[in-house]
Amino acid sequence: MGAVRVAERPDAAAPVVTDLCPRCQTTRRPREVICAFCGFDIRSLPSGRFDDQLLGAIFLPEPEVAEEAAFLLGIRRPPGAGRALERRYHETGNPFVQREIVIAADRVGGPEADRILADARTHYSVVVRGEALRRLVRRGGEVGDEAAAAARADPSPHVRLMAFRPPTRSELLASG
Ligand SMILES: [Zn+2]
Repeated sequence: MGAVRVAERPDAAAPVVTDLCPRCQTTRRPREVICAFCGFDIRSLPSGRFDDQLLGAIFLPEPEVAEEAAFLLGIRRPPGAGRALERRYHETGNPFVQREIVIAADRVGGPEADRILADARTHYSVVVRGEALRRLVRRGGEVGDEAAAAARADPSPHVRLMAFRPPTRSELLASG
């Protein structure tokens, strides 16, 4: 972890942008798109300060904060999201953060997403590799066929299963 550059967080006990609903300030649940308390759809918030804060929060050291920031960047897709996701992907050594970045990058799209997925599809960690192959399989066409072949030949049974898992309900909600 020595070379990892992350943002400073003066008070680790204070809530961060990913913790609270931007409208009612109630504690959010992880990967929540619609606030369970006030019904606010976090995608409907106009771009601005919240997105700027997310682009900073993804570099905070706590994995759960970085994962949630990645999720929110993936569903809000503000300008600069692809660059931030790619930088954090290479800076973190945490495969769970990297898996969430793979998901977010696939939602954001663009050249950064293509580079992240190209790296992640041969990642040593089965959680990152499985998620990347799953995303690529879903793209279909030649890319999807190649990913499907790689997944079928993968030494890990987790990856072989994961790559062909259909979208979950919460994924469909987040992309809808
Ligand atoms: Zn709320």
